[in-house]
Amino acid sequence: MQEIGLVPYPLNLKFSRKKGGAAFMRIFLPEEIGFCFGVERALKLVRDELKKGNHIYTLGDLIHNPGVVESLRRKGVIPISSLSQISKGTLVIRSHGASPFLIKEERRKGLKILNATCPYVLRVQRIARYLSMKSYQVIIIGLATHPEVEGVMANVDKRRAYVVKTPEEATEIPFASKIGVVAQTTESIDNFENIVKNLVEKGREIRVFNTICKVIRQRQEITRRLAKKVEAMIVVGGHNSSNTHQLVKLCKSLKVKTYFVESRNGLETQDLKHFKKVGLVGGTSTPRSAVKEIKDFLLSIN
Ligand code: SF4
Repeated sequence: MQEIGLVPYPLNLKFSRKKGGAAFMRIFLPEEIGFCFGVERALKLVRDELKKGNHIYTLGDLIHNPGVVESLRRKGVIPISSLSQISKGTLVIRSHGASPFLIKEERRKGLKILNATCPYVLRVQRIARYLSMKSYQVIIIGLATHPEVEGVMANVDKRRAYVVKTPEEATEIPFASKIGVVAQTTESIDNFENIVKNLVEKGREIRVFNTICKVIRQRQEITRRLAKKVEAMIVVGGHNSSNTHQLVKLCKSLKVKTYFVESRNGLETQDLKHFKKVGLVGGTSTPRSAVKEIKDFLLSIN
C-alpha cells in the first residue's frame, strides 16, 4: 500500500502550493472503501430476486445506510418491522443474521427465505453455540440491541450468557469455571482487548475467539494510521451503522478533528478549506460512490 493506499490522483501524491498562494489540501483516500463482501453478497441476492419479479421484504433495513435502503425501496425492497405485516413473498435475512427461531417462524408462514447472513456472522453463531453446548458461560462482546448480537444470543443458553459492551461491565460478570468469549463482528479491536483483560479473572478456564471480521480490522487499522497523519478525518457512512461509528470513535480517540457524514450534504467548504491534510474513510455499508462524491467535493475546494 503506497502511503496508506493513496488513490493515484496527482493532488493526493504531492503537497502542492499555488505560487505565492495558499497550500493545496492533500486528500488521503485508502483503496479499502466501498461495501464489504458480506454487504455485496446481500445486495446481489436481492438484485437477483428482484429480476424474478418477486415481492421482497427485509426485517429491518437490509444494510445500515439510509441512501441505499431508500434506493432499494424504490425498486420494491420493503423493510418491515414485524413478520405480522406480511403473509407472502420473499423475506431476506440480512447480513447481520437472525435468530434460528425467527427463521423457523418465517418458514412456518410459508415465506420464501433468502438467507444473506454473512459467513463471518455465521461463524460467530457457530462458535457461541458450540461454547454453550460445552457448558461455557458465553460472553458476547458487542451491543446487546444490535441485530447481529440478538441473533448470536438466540444460539446460546441465555441463563449462562452475557453481552458486554465496556471493560467496566466485564468486571460485573459472575465467576464461572469455564468462560467462552466471542465478539460482534464489527466490534473495535481496542475495546475487545480491554474487555478480555478484565475477564481473565472471571474464570478458571477462558477461551477467547477473536471473531471481529477481518474487513473491519483492516478498516480500523487503516483509519488509525491515516488519522495520525492528517489534520482532519471525514468518515462516511450511515448514522445507524455500527462499524462506521467505531471508525468515528477511533478517530476522535486520536484527537483528530473528525466529521461523520452520510453524504456530501453534511460538509461545508467553510469548515474544511483551512486543512492541508484530510483523510477520507468509509464504513462497510457505505457505497464507494458516496466516498468518491466527497473526494470530488474536496478537490473542488482545492
Ligand atoms: S462487515 Fe464483515 S461481518 Fe459484517 S457483513 Fe461485512 S464482511 Fe460480513
